[in-house]
Amino acid sequence: MLRLDNVTKVYKVGTFGGKAVTAVDGVSFDVRPGEVVSLIGESGSGKSTIGRMILGLTSVTGGSITVDGVPVKPGKEYYRGVQGVFQDPFSCYNPVFKADRVFRMIKETYYPSVPEPAWAERVRAAVQDVRLNPGEVLGKYPHQLSGGQLQRLLIARALLLDLKLLVADEITSMLDASTRIDVLNLLADLKTRGLGVLYVTHDLSLGNYLAERTVVLRRGQVVERGLTGKVFGDP
Ligand code: ADP
Ligand code: ADP
Repeated sequence: MLRLDNVTKVYKVGTFGGKAVTAVDGVSFDVRPGEVVSLIGESGSGKSTIGRMILGLTSVTGGSITVDGVPVKPGKEYYRGVQGVFQDPFSCYNPVFKADRVFRMIKETYYPSVPEPAWAERVRAAVQDVRLNPGEVLGKYPHQLSGGQLQRLLIARALLLDLKLLVADEITSMLDASTRIDVLNLLADLKTRGLGVLYVTHDLSLGNYLAERTVVLRRGQVVERGLTGKVFGDP
């Protein structure tokens, strides 16, 4: 479903004669439907750059990224299939959480033409699925919610929009331990619904817990990959 084929990203730093930084260097891997793959690496290894390229937030320098055979490119149609959830759910990468009230945000950005009563019901059901109380969150503005609530809402939105792939970039690092377990369980639910999840993290134990396959990145290159148990040296 998601396929990266020999993907490279070179950042040009500075103008005139500035130097180039190769952040991602010939990376290939895939994520199948209903599968969680973790992308693990130290800070600076290129994980976020890969996540951002998959989401169409930054261009690919070389190689290709496709979802169901279609090359990624920024645009609303594309975002119906793929969504990012980021470490800081308030960050500018979450246009979903611009200014509007939560309900309108979830509903109107993407399906302006669907009649409201039908949507209201679906939105409430999805919010309940992520174990939030619709009455409590839907009338609020994003900044009135906690980081954990916002991340759950992004997952609710993924459920509503029939997404194919969720890119989760260090999403649990800001959460307390019990919320973290809840969010990880939600990701596990997503895969039972056939979504693919790319779980980006620097934290070995969390990726281990969630993913059947793991890709290890070092200085922009894949240095190890395979079944998570094997990568971490289980017998
Ligand atoms: P990670 O997510 O694993 O911490 P990043 O993808 O953020 O890694 O960064 C990989 C490399 O690319 C690092 O050397 C980083 O400094 C560089 N880099 C990331 N973003 C930019 C950018 N916008 N401009 C220039 N260099 C960048
Ligand atoms: P505009 O406000 O110009 O209509 P969007 O709201 O569609 O644009 O997107 C704003 C920014 O967020 C763009 O950089 C876009 O690539 C990015 N983006 C849009 N949708 C998503 C999404 N679901 N996940 C991650 N990034 C997104």
